[in-house]
Amino acid sequence: PCPCGYDGDVSGRCRCRPEQIKRYQDKLSGPLLDRIDLHITVPALPIADLQNSSAGETSEQVRIRVAAAHKRQLARQQKVNNELSP
Ligand SMILES: [Zn+2]
Repeated sequence: PCPCGYDGDVSGRCRCRPEQIKRYQDKLSGPLLDRIDLHITVPALPIADLQNSSAGETSEQVRIRVAAAHKRQLARQQKVNNELSP
């Protein structure tokens, strides 16, 4: 959004002047912007949210889940999904 990247951020860290922001945004050509149909402002996540995020599944948990899915495929159709015909 601006040279420092913090324009519009709730932290108020952006100190860029409006003419700097305009000059920065004008670097993107019209034909390039015409190819982008959707522009969404996504606020930055607070550092605390990133640090406190859960670790997610372990590889062992994923392995068990995938093995169970494989077993269900075989029980349902006597072959795995990639061997099914259209
Ligand atoms: Zn800025």
